[in-house]
This record gives sequence, C-alpha cells and structure tokens, in this order.
Amino acid sequence: MELFSRDHQPLHHFDVTLPDSAEVLRHEVRAFLAKELADGSFVPQCDAWIAGFSPEFSMKLGQQRWLGMSWPRKYGGHERSALDRFVVTEELLAAGAPVAAHWIADRQTGPLLLRYGTEEQRLRFLPAIARGECYFAIGMSEPDAGSDLAAIRSSARRVEGGWHLQGRKIWTSWAHQAQYLLVLCRTSPPGKDRHVGMSQMIVELASPGVSTQPIISISGQHHFNEVIFDDVFVPDEMVLGQIDHGWEQVMGELAFERSGPERSLSTFPLLVELMRQLGPQPDERAAEAVGRLVSRLWTLRRMSLAVAHLLNSGIVPDVEAALVKDQGTRFEREVAEVTRTLLPSAPVLDAPDQLNALLAQALLTAPSYTLRGGASEILRGIVARGLEQS
Ligand SMILES: Cc1cc2nc3c(=O)[nH]c(=O)nc-3n(C[C@H](O)[C@H](O)[C@H](O)COP(=O)(O)OP(=O)(O)OC[C@H]3O[C@@H](n4cnc5c(N)ncnc54)[C@H](O)[C@@H]3O)c2cc1C
Repeated sequence: MELFSRDHQPLHHFDVTLPDSAEVLRHEVRAFLAKELADGSFVPQCDAWIAGFSPEFSMKLGQQRWLGMSWPRKYGGHERSALDRFVVTEELLAAGAPVAAHWIADRQTGPLLLRYGTEEQRLRFLPAIARGECYFAIGMSEPDAGSDLAAIRSSARRVEGGWHLQGRKIWTSWAHQAQYLLVLCRTSPPGKDRHVGMSQMIVELASPGVSTQPIISISGQHHFNEVIFDDVFVPDEMVLGQIDHGWEQVMGELAFERSGPERSLSTFPLLVELMRQLGPQPDERAAEAVGRLVSRLWTLRRMSLAVAHLLNSGIVPDVEAALVKDQGTRFEREVAEVTRTLLPSAPVLDAPDQLNALLAQALLTAPSYTLRGGASEILRGIVARGLEQS
C-alpha cells in the first residue's frame, strides 16, 4: 500500500510481511505470558502500557532479552530487528501486561540516546534500560504548552560545569517512580524562529531542587505528576545532543512515541473479553459491530507495522506516525463505545466480572487516548502539511 509521495517520488510503501522468525518469537512470548498469567503475576488491564507499573515484570522482560531488542550488543541490546520488537510489544499489549515501568525508556529514550547521546551516556543508560532497571519519564508538556510545545517556559542558564534549570512540567507520567526525566527547556530566548533555542537535558529526579506533585486521574490512579525545577543543577554530561537544537531531536522522539502498536491496542484486552463473552454465535447486531472493529484493527496493524519498518530503516516517519496515531486512538475509543452499547449492565471499576471491569477502565481513560502523545487536531495538521508538500 503506498501512502503518499514527496517531490513526485513514491515514498513509503505500507506493505511489510513478518518473517517466519518473528512468528516463532511470537509463540515464545505467548508461552511466557500464559505462564505469568497462570502464576498470577498480573491481571490483564486496559491501557497497561501507561497504567501498569511493575519493576518486577520489566526486569523479567529484560531477562528474556525483550528490552533494547534492536540496540547494539555493546550497549546491552540484542541486535534483533524492529519487526521482532514489534511482535514482542504487540503481544505484551494484547495481553494487557504491566509494562509501563520500562515503556518510555525502551520505546523512545533509548533510540534517542543511540542517535544523539555521547558514548558515555549510551554506556551508562542503555544497558540498564535493557535490563529493565532504568526508567525515564517524558518532560515535554507544561501548564501553558501542550499542543503548542514551542511555548515552553522552563529554561536553563549556563553556569560553570553545566546548567541551572528552572520551571515546571505537567502530566508527567510516572515521574514519581522513574529515575530520570528527559526535559525539553529553553537555553536561548525565542527569536524569529521560536523552534530554535531549545535543548534536551537528562535530569535525575532525585536531584536537589526537583519536586514532584501527584495529579490523581478520574479513575483514582496516581500516574501523572507536576514536576517543579527550582534551580536544579544539570551537569554538562547530562545534556542530550546539541544545545539549542532540541526541537529537531524532540520531533524525532515524537515519531517513536506516536508510532507504536500501543496507539491502537490500549483497549484490546476489552475487545478480547467482549468476544469471549459473546461466544461463537453472537446476535447479528453484536457480530456486525465486532466485525467492523476487527477489520479496522487489521488495517491499523499493517500501518503500524509499516511505520516500525520505516523507523528501523533510519527514516523519521513523522507524517505516517501522526496518521497512524490519529486513526489508532479513534479506534481504541470506539472499542469502549461499542462494548458499552452491547453490555446490559453499568460498568464498575472493581466489578468481579472481567468484561465489566475492563469496560470501566476503558471508559475512564478513553478521553486521554486522542490527547496524549499529541492531540488529534494537531496530528491532522501534520498530515495535512505533509500532503501539501507532496
Ligand atoms: C494520559 C496522558 C499522559 C501524558 N503523559 C505525558 C508525559 O509523560 N509527559 C508529557 O510531557 N506530557 C504528557 N501528557 C500531555 C500531553 O502530551 C498533552 O496533553 C497533549 O500534548 C495536549 O496538550 P494539552 O493537554 O495542553 O491540551 P491543549 O494543547 O490545550 O489542547 C486542548 C484541545 O485544544 C485543541 N487544540 C489545541 N491547539 C489547537 C490548534 N492549533 N488547532 C486545533 N485544535 C487545537 C487540541 O487538539 C485539544 O483537543 C500526557 C497526557 C495524557 C492525557
């Protein structure tokens, strides 16, 4: 499937087939997850990649060599392909396994360190991430800078041996549990082009001057935070990439953040449970509704797989990633909506019935799917501009 072309050249083909080796791997992951489930190490959950924080489970995945999968061996990686990684992440998400602890570090911080990090930074962080022991949070959004990320006000000023950081971040998932936060901040005042003058810094969350305030979500969970920097010293060796060129780096990071199968599988455990309870002979209305969802999921999966392949080829597929995220997160919401119309009882979070509990989880988190990682309107703007340039 061809998406679009730039400069009149056919660009990216959305046509990737998984090799047999990836399918062998899929069976290994399924066997591992079936055993973990049988041993009671987790209960399948909607949105588990953001809500299910379990250092024990992340370390088990590290021992299986399923973190840092495509990174070089010298940095603790396993030199597998992006398609192998895709299969592992897909199976973990489908099972609703608790993968939030390592997710951000494995998905986006690691690849960013590989691209922009110093040798010292790579050797320090990547092996620990691949072991499932080192967790990063994302320090982009601020109270007045979400969709308009270039409006950030957190800033760092030069001091001897490093930088002094001042400001605040908001909606920072797991900043109270992660060891590090990758902060986007201003290092020069905005000029004519306000995208110039930003930098990325690795901030140790236990540093003096960093404080973390919880924000409790509608479901009663604490995964969000507000993080405040009060003259935090960041040594030079914790600057990631080039000073004042953080914007390009962040755009690359967002392609990793937006493109994965988690952008269509957050409610997959609910869909599976719905099908299980409907049984092999659902009524016509249910069969049609579920059939529509599954056929859409299949298309989304091919698109997501193709984006993984492009990332692996060193391309930054920002337009494609935006398209897949917009479509995938709409799908995730619809799974909750369709289930709600088919289920006779009102959903309750601690319901003993698994379908009912999963639906409650999905309905309470659904509004966030199309916001986090970039709101849909913003993503559509990126796609529209990409089409204009073609
Ligand atoms: C579950 C969750 C986890 C998150 N985790 C993190 C995290 O770990 N780290 C982090 O940095 N951030 C995180 N975020 C923040 C997230 O990136 C922002 O919520 C998102 O970028 C939107 O920004 P905002 O909330 O400020 O909304 P706003 O930017 O205020 O947008 C509000 C609404 O206005 C619309 N809008 C805004 N501008 C335009 C425009 N120009 N044209 C058309 N419509 C527009 C938006 O589409 C949206 O519908 C998280 C958010 C959620 C929901």
